[in-house]
Amino acid sequence: MSTTLPDTLRPLMWIGGSAVAASSGQTFEVVEPATEEVFAVLPRASAEDAVKALEAAAAALPEWRSTPGIEKAIILHAVAAKLREHKDRLATLITREMGRPLVETLDEVEWCALIFDYYAEIGRGDVGRTVSPGQRGQLNYTVKEPYGVVVAITPWNYPLLLLTWKAAPALAAGNTVVVKPSEMSPLSSCAMAEILADVLPGGTFNVVTGFGAEVGAPLVEHPLTNLITFTGSTATGRRIAVSAAQYLKTVHLELGGSDPLIVCDDVDLDVAARAACWASFLNNGQVCTSAKRILVFESVYDEFIAKLVPLVKALRQGNGLGPDVDLGPIVSKAQRDQVEKQVERARAEGAKFLTGAARPDRKGWFYEPTLAVDCPRDGVLCTEEVFGPVRPVIKVKDLADAIAVANGTPFGLGASIFTNSLERAMRASEEIRSGTFWINDPLTDNHAAPFGGMKESGLGRELGPEGLDAFRETKHVHLNYAVEHKGYWFPYDWGTGRNKIS
Ligand code: NAD
Repeated sequence: MSTTLPDTLRPLMWIGGSAVAASSGQTFEVVEPATEEVFAVLPRASAEDAVKALEAAAAALPEWRSTPGIEKAIILHAVAAKLREHKDRLATLITREMGRPLVETLDEVEWCALIFDYYAEIGRGDVGRTVSPGQRGQLNYTVKEPYGVVVAITPWNYPLLLLTWKAAPALAAGNTVVVKPSEMSPLSSCAMAEILADVLPGGTFNVVTGFGAEVGAPLVEHPLTNLITFTGSTATGRRIAVSAAQYLKTVHLELGGSDPLIVCDDVDLDVAARAACWASFLNNGQVCTSAKRILVFESVYDEFIAKLVPLVKALRQGNGLGPDVDLGPIVSKAQRDQVEKQVERARAEGAKFLTGAARPDRKGWFYEPTLAVDCPRDGVLCTEEVFGPVRPVIKVKDLADAIAVANGTPFGLGASIFTNSLERAMRASEEIRSGTFWINDPLTDNHAAPFGGMKESGLGRELGPEGLDAFRETKHVHLNYAVEHKGYWFPYDWGTGRNKIS
């Protein structure tokens, strides 16, 4: 059993630009899902550490928020350059801590760099607007100001990317940040803090490691926290929203989903089957916007299944560090147990499995990619989020039926359709409630466009200009050029009409 990192990065959390241990001296283990072995031990932060991190962020705030936009932009471009310089190390850490193949995690780090470059530019270009004044001799304008100290709580499935969706716009807007990464995949976030320690001013970007109840909740509740941005499960998001509401803090929530992917009867089924296979099983189905329910027109259902099954059976599982691997392990034993339980409940409901529904005979928390049919529409696989490699293929009569099924869960994160009919595509895009709608190209994000959920999938938007505004409050400034007495002030004199405001 090894307790050291695979490179020079130190297993410590970062507060005020320095690497620190937990105040209590306690630690916790990070286990590699592909090997089930411990490969790092990190500080187990408590409420005391949460306060230290918030104080560091609050101390750094005045200087950072008043740093001119051009200087902030130069620094954020330098962040992007550093991430590219350390791409291999960061990608390796992500693969080891949460299992995704290296080809995907290299892409994740590059994407983070692109997002820092993007917000470096748009963060300095748009800071408010001028407004037509009510009277002569006046100027009205708005200024977009940072909220202050932002707490970013992230999940394990895209640890660095989802951190970046929050930290890059938050910093570009002039906030300082405290990150609480998932206890399952904290190493890449700590490594990022170390890499950026000589680029970002101390205290602007802090990372505390540990568990949600022990350090996440105190961060949410503390008075120094001005805004909470959270990505994770709907259950935790709800808990955080309730807690933040007591202090009337602003909260952004990026939560769970059960995205539908509709396959109409007018498309090339070879293309649709390949797309469905990728969109369902990318990152082992552990993507918030995975195609979690495949809805297929009944007229092409059998043909589509005949094309999809061999593609799923051909997926190659293995340690994500190795070559020729399509799918790594599930992130943790607990997560695999949860997926297995959902499969067993679906079986009890009458579902049949065309592939998988079993663990492969190897070490690591692997689970075979699984396709289910004959699932009741009110059953577990059609109504709950399944955060793992298990997907139901659901027969639908026509587009109206597909839209009804698509809308039939509490979630509204993303949705996709495959069709050559403009009319079908547009009708579905209008009638399905989802934050993103993909036509003939599922799961393709664009960091200049907004991302987020409707219904129980979230509150607010990340990415794009909307993702920057999420971290800024608007102030209206009213300026009267002259110091002069206004006729509408006291004392009132309605007889003369002098008190009219406009
Ligand atoms: P999770 O809710 O279990 O944990 C997310 C984070 O919240 C972790 O850092 C955890 O330590 C912290 N946390 C837990 N309890 C807390 C509390 N009481 N107070 C403060 N923090 C607390 O989620 P997960 O299992 O890490 O991630 C999987 C979920 O995330 C899935 O539901 C998935 O759909 C969702 N997700 C959503 C998006 C999106 O953009 N909408 C993206 C990725 C993942």
